[in-house]
Amino acid sequence: MSTSELLSRLREAGVRLSVRDGQLNVSAPKGALNEELRRSLRDRKAELIELLADADSAQRPEDSSIPVADRSQPIPLSFAQQRIWFLEEFEGGSSVYNIPWAMRVRGKFDVVALQAALNDLARRHESLRTVFVKTDKEPVQEIRDDFELNIEIIKMHGADKATVRRQIESWARQTFELTTGPLFRVGVIETGSRKHVLVLVIHHIISDGWSLDVLQNELFSFYLGHVNGELPELEPLQLQLADYAAWQRNRVNGSEFERQLDYWKNQLRGAPALLELPTDRQRPSEQSYHGTHLRRLLPAKLSKALQAIAKEQNATLFMVLLTAFKIFLARYSGQDDIVVGTPIAGRQQTELEGLIGLFLNTLAMRTDVTGNPTFTELLKRVQATSLDAFAHQDIPFDRIVDALHPTRDMSHSPVYQVQFMLQNTPANGSPVEGLEFQHVEFNYGTSKFDLTLATAETEDGLAAEIEYCTDLFDEQSIERMLEHFEILLQGITANPEIGIRDLPLIDDRERTVLLVDWNATKVDYPAQATLQSLLEQQAESSPHAPALIYESTVLSYGELNARANQLAHWLISQGVGPDDMVGVYMERSVEMVIALLGIIKAGGAYVPLDPDYPGQRLQHMLEDADIRILLAQSHLADALPPYPGITLSVDTAIDELGALPDVNPLHRAGPGNLAYVIFTSGSTGRPKGVMNEHHGICNRLLWMQDQYRLDNNDRVLQKTPYSFDVSVWEFFWPLITGATLVVARPGGHRDSDYLCSLIREHAVTTLHFVPSMLQVFLQDENANTCKTLQRVICSGEALSHDLQARFFATLDSELHNLYGPTEAAIDVTYWACEKDSTETSVPIGYPVANTQIYVVEPDGQPAPVGVAGELWIGGDQVARGYANRPDLTAERFIPDPFSAKEGARIYRTGDLTRFRNDGAIEFLGRIDHQVKLRGFRI
Ligand code: AMP
Ligand code: MG
Repeated sequence: MSTSELLSRLREAGVRLSVRDGQLNVSAPKGALNEELRRSLRDRKAELIELLADADSAQRPEDSSIPVADRSQPIPLSFAQQRIWFLEEFEGGSSVYNIPWAMRVRGKFDVVALQAALNDLARRHESLRTVFVKTDKEPVQEIRDDFELNIEIIKMHGADKATVRRQIESWARQTFELTTGPLFRVGVIETGSRKHVLVLVIHHIISDGWSLDVLQNELFSFYLGHVNGELPELEPLQLQLADYAAWQRNRVNGSEFERQLDYWKNQLRGAPALLELPTDRQRPSEQSYHGTHLRRLLPAKLSKALQAIAKEQNATLFMVLLTAFKIFLARYSGQDDIVVGTPIAGRQQTELEGLIGLFLNTLAMRTDVTGNPTFTELLKRVQATSLDAFAHQDIPFDRIVDALHPTRDMSHSPVYQVQFMLQNTPANGSPVEGLEFQHVEFNYGTSKFDLTLATAETEDGLAAEIEYCTDLFDEQSIERMLEHFEILLQGITANPEIGIRDLPLIDDRERTVLLVDWNATKVDYPAQATLQSLLEQQAESSPHAPALIYESTVLSYGELNARANQLAHWLISQGVGPDDMVGVYMERSVEMVIALLGIIKAGGAYVPLDPDYPGQRLQHMLEDADIRILLAQSHLADALPPYPGITLSVDTAIDELGALPDVNPLHRAGPGNLAYVIFTSGSTGRPKGVMNEHHGICNRLLWMQDQYRLDNNDRVLQKTPYSFDVSVWEFFWPLITGATLVVARPGGHRDSDYLCSLIREHAVTTLHFVPSMLQVFLQDENANTCKTLQRVICSGEALSHDLQARFFATLDSELHNLYGPTEAAIDVTYWACEKDSTETSVPIGYPVANTQIYVVEPDGQPAPVGVAGELWIGGDQVARGYANRPDLTAERFIPDPFSAKEGARIYRTGDLTRFRNDGAIEFLGRIDHQVKLRGFRI
């Protein structure tokens, strides 16, 4: 162990070293010095004296000894006290600053002696007699002399555990009155003869974790004194809490104070205001401090392995655990600048050690985890920051907050929202003759932070307890966090030399759930199906049923099929065959439907070339898709950019086409050939043509029919521009199921009045809206007259909870939220919206048939439930790639790392999502804009 290492270990253990007259003084809390530390102290005494003498003169120019404050003057509050005081004022009597604990006491318990001991204790410690009163300016502390502390005693013989626990909780949560006191409450529940539960509740403004040990030890010293008739000889206290507070307030103008404050300002400048952990609920606009806790015991073996790593790396268990926790938080939040608070005793002066009071301070430990460092590398970073932080621990945290003046946001605590601590052995107190104590677990109902991880070494292993805000998290999520944390620790001990992003968070069981169980979507659809075969089967089975309605035109299945066949024969005569891309340059019309069907029947793939697009863009599309034949309408043909191929105006070619055979052409395209190529409007760069194959789109359509079941009474509105892939199901789903396609006139999709009347006139049952258009539609005063609607399908954008509510208030219809990119045959997940849903967001749901959805962390590992990751799509619907863009194809379409199937590929969507507890997926946003969203970066 190096000397600086030794110093930091001592500091962490709460050991204080000082040099006086060339002598090394060591003051250590009980049990803080193990054999190793003792030996090192002995061995390095000379070195330490030299070092400390130097450091003392260099770093502590000011006198750090605390004088006794003048009791005739008003006594101010320390900074920490002041903040608590203000928060308490503001919150109006909350119990968040109550520190409660409870013990089962077995044996002959003398409550009268305890009562006497309690007042002895109060006489010894001013803090127990202090109240906090308002003045014109700042609040002041008043120490009372005539102060009686009374034990409340309740008899509950034979009461069950739950009843006893409720009593404990009621005491624990009872608020204190700061201005009148007392701020310490003692209750005894008598549960049987020689069976009691002792409940102690003290306000944080006069105490801290360390105080509990002092309090308990001294209370029972006095107690034993009364029982045995022999009062204990406790060393008189030199100082009291009030002296410390007055001294601290006086000290803020010193240069050493300034120097330390500068350190913190530098250290925390530009840190993220909020650590965005995946919460189960939206953060309330004001922090409520509602909370509870959950505990998990990590195996002793793991605890030993962590100790071993600490030793090997010349670090402490505290550093190892803090580093691991930071990795955990980085992975969970997707952020890489992680600030965690950690409390320290703050009792730098020996005279403070025996006091009951608030001395605790917190250090905000900030760590940059960028660049996938190994665990040991990160440990070094954390160690360096921690040592610096310890060296600047004199500044009360509340002063740092003041100095940083962060934008005040009442929804979370400033600077950090997550705390970490490694507690020394839990306060069991020294043994009391004749009595046996046992700690009692209960729920005190509060959480100061979003999350606090408190670890403690016990004989049975490492206890890890998370105190969490119940407004944000469900127990199930915290349970999982503890599990993931354990797995992470196991991973670290197995190999501390791998990148922190490659460390495991989930075990094989959860991995199987995520990758396999939630993707068990296998459904057997006909392997040889193509759009052509599905269309022709339907035309054959209902030739006389209405297939298509456009304005005053109605075509039966037989008629539509015949006209499409004639066009197909013409295309075949022009040499069109499998995987040939044929352009369609048309407005919405009967001819457009015939064109799409004709191309499919010729074995080719159709490519929408929207006449609304700018010429330049159309030019690119013609080139990328290598279009040689193009179907148009005569009134548009002139506007077409110059291109070397053939153009047929379908409307004026009626005679030519009418002369051709109208029988079904041979099936030349198979499931693996292209069906359509749609150019995505990609926000940046040149649009790319997505090549979709028959098996993908057939899977998508057959799944849709399985799921929503159209029949021959259904009428599906076709209004989506054909350059968006939603139009693909609008066209083909009704035509392969015997329903009727109702085609809206050009531009009609933007006119809510027109849509309403069309829906009413043709008794439309099924239609699609992107949410923003649904919003506009629902604002139309006639929207609620669309009573024939049975199902409305949303996709393309996030569907908000508000819009969902508005929908159900307006229409008596199903609402479905579908999700998917053009690169995977329209949609790959689905969710049936619930009318009375109390959730705050609408999920995108579960994978469709024969589809795998993976939520993946930046390193390519499956993200645990709740953790944000990129959505990857595998399975039958993944497209072939981008036309003429091999590089881009190779970048976005990659071999499926989770599939054993040969040749399986996935498409990386760039969408940020996460799994909910029930396996439903939530859409969070785009990764490209991730700077704003959960800090996820690529
Ligand atoms: P597109 O290729 O035009 O279908 O666009 C696909 C993209 O639209 C997806 O990658 C998502 O970013 C977004 N998107 C599609 N459906 C949804 C949905 N239901 N909720 C949120 N975003 C969606
Ligand atoms: Mg889509």
